Order: sequence, then C-alpha cells, then structure tokens
Amino acid sequence: MVVDVGGVKVGGAHPIVVQSMTNTDTAAVDATAAQVRDLHEAGSELVRVTVNNDEAAGAVPDIVAQVAVPVIGDFHYNGHLLLTKYPRMAEALAKYRINPGNVGAKRRDENFRTIIEVALANRKPVRIGVNWGSLDQQLLTELMDENARRSDPLDAREVTIEAMVQSAMRSAELAEECGLAHDRIILSAKVSGVQDLVAVYQRLAERSDYPLHLGLTEAGMGSKGIIASAAALAILLQEGIGDTIRVSLTPRPGGDRTEEVQVAQQILQSLGLRSFTPQVSACPGCGRTTSTFFQEMAEDIQTYLRDRMPIWRERYPGVESLRVAVMGCVVNGPGESKHADIGISLPGTFEEPKAPVYVDGRLKVTLRGDTIVADFLKILEDYVETRFGAGAPVR
Ligand code: SF4
Repeated sequence: MVVDVGGVKVGGAHPIVVQSMTNTDTAAVDATAAQVRDLHEAGSELVRVTVNNDEAAGAVPDIVAQVAVPVIGDFHYNGHLLLTKYPRMAEALAKYRINPGNVGAKRRDENFRTIIEVALANRKPVRIGVNWGSLDQQLLTELMDENARRSDPLDAREVTIEAMVQSAMRSAELAEECGLAHDRIILSAKVSGVQDLVAVYQRLAERSDYPLHLGLTEAGMGSKGIIASAAALAILLQEGIGDTIRVSLTPRPGGDRTEEVQVAQQILQSLGLRSFTPQVSACPGCGRTTSTFFQEMAEDIQTYLRDRMPIWRERYPGVESLRVAVMGCVVNGPGESKHADIGISLPGTFEEPKAPVYVDGRLKVTLRGDTIVADFLKILEDYVETRFGAGAPVR
C-alpha cells in the first residue's frame, strides 16, 4: 500500500521517508518557515507542525508558501473545529495527523468524522497517530473490563498494547466508513519503551497493510534518546516494518532541531536501507594513538564531507554511497582502508611518520610531513570527481 503525501510516496517499495517536526510557535510564520526549511535542508522529506489554535491555523498557508517540502498538520482536541474554520489551512497542508485519543470525549466519533470529511473534500491523506500518553481511555477501560472477565486474564501491559493497536485499527475502519480511501491512511502507535514499541508495531504490521509511521515517542535527550530510538527502529526496520520514521529527540536549550533528521538518516544508512552522506569508518584509537592528531583528522574529514555534501550532491550523483576510512595505526589501518573506497592509515605513536593512502583497495601514495590532512582532502576531492563526476566511467 502506498500513500501519496504531497508528492512524497510513503509505503510499498518506496524508500523509507524521513520526517521531522518543528518546535517553534506555529503562529510565528517566519520562525516556523525558517525551521521547516532548516529541517528540509538537513534531509527531512516531510515536516510536521502543530496546529493548536486559531493563530497557528491562520499562519499555516503563509508558512507553506515559504517552503518547498510537504507540511503536515498535527491536530489534537480541536482539529475538527480548526479544519472547518480555516479552509485555506486545510487545503495548504499535505496531510492531517489525528490522534484518536484526543478528538473529544463526548462527540468523539462525530469530531473524527468531521476531520475525515475535510480530508475527503481536500483529497488529503491522514495519519491516525495513537500515542501511549493519550490513549483512548474509553477503549482501554473496555478492554481492561473484558480482560478481567477472562478465566486467564492477560497482564496490563498486554492489554494496553492491544488497546493501542485496536485504537489505530478501529479509527482506520471508521475513516474508511466515512469514505476515505484505503490508500489515504497511514498508521502510527507510539510508545516510549523500546520493547513495547516493537510489540505494538509487530502486531500492527500483522493485522494491516497501511503504511506505518515509526517513532519512539518521548525518546529523550542526547545519547539516551538517540540510542533508544536507534535500538527500537532498527529491530522493526530489519523486520521490514516501517515506511516512514521520525526520531523524537528533546533538544538541549538552544540546540539544533535538525539533529533528529541526522539521526533518522544515520539509522537508515547504518542499516543499509538508504544512503544520504558518505560514511567515515574511524578506529576508536587506543594506546598506539596517544596524540590527538588522529582524532582531529577524523573530525576534520567528517566535517569536510558534511560541508561539501550540498555541492557534491548536486554535482556528483551517487556520492552519498562513498566510504572513507581514517585509521589510527598499522594494526588495522591498511586492512580497513583497503575495504573503503578511499582510506588513510595514520602513523601510531613511535611509528614512522608516514600515512599510506589506499584508493579502491590499492596503495595510491604515502603521505608525509605537516600537510597530510590537506593532501588527503585533495586526493579525496579528485577521487570524487573521477568516480562520480560527469565523465566518470559507468561502474
Ligand atoms: S587501528 Fe591501531 S590505533 Fe586504531 S584501535 Fe586498532 S590498534 Fe589502535
């Protein structure tokens, strides 16, 4: 099943789509549009913004007009009201995210139907996005009561996982009853625990063919958030589950929002599912590399690659698959360098001050002196031109 989100295909054999979400006040048009552009430039193929009030809803068309990436609206509690009151906003968005736990308690189905009717009128897809933190309490209570009547009751975690899955599935069913096409629906059911997330998505994948949006919700800050997200998503992606991903990191105050895009890309590239940027293999260093020269060089090369990528991407199709090795000494240096497209093995402590460079598995040159880094970057630039430039031979 494939869903078209503003021209981006999600599902089926299409590449797994990277998406992200802004954290600006959506009503601040310029700031939000700037962040959407930053996320897009970092590689986000879809960007979601919260649409939580009149001001945000009114701002959406102006934001969309300033950016070149499909923008998704995230609705809770008042989506039915905003989507009907602001038709230009409903038209400008590429997709609506609906949380079935947050569409109103009393007139839940009616509000949900209203959103679906707006989606139908505007020919938009929706994501039915269930979240552990706002799970439909009526459904959970119903399933808990049912469970209590069983002769062999399941534990509460089991029932909650089932409630997450049923909430998504029942809402998708209701959306289709309202006339929304099967291929206009994406599902997600996010939780914050890795094992719970895996269990929920395995069950969702078993029971439906809707494209699935993966993400560990409230993953957290820094390395904890990155590692937990990578662990959860890797298990599912390896099983072929997931069509689009978002990594929900909490940025440090003043931190870079695009980190979540970089992490999402790195997860996909590490699993060999997509290529976004040349990869640098660097050894961890040890007692043989007592100077910081080797770490600095690995960092310099990584930075150089990142800085050059916007130009390289335009000029050298396929360059994102490049593999570079930066190794600290002769123990594994030459071997690892030979496995990369281009690699350098630096001298370890007490080794002769020379750095052999390997290109396509063969020793090309041995660098010496103070200009090793600059010389290596020149060789790297020439290699990229020769291999990926217009006149490069077809491989
Ligand atoms: S390649 Fe050399 S410097 Fe790097 S970890 Fe191995 S032994 Fe240490």
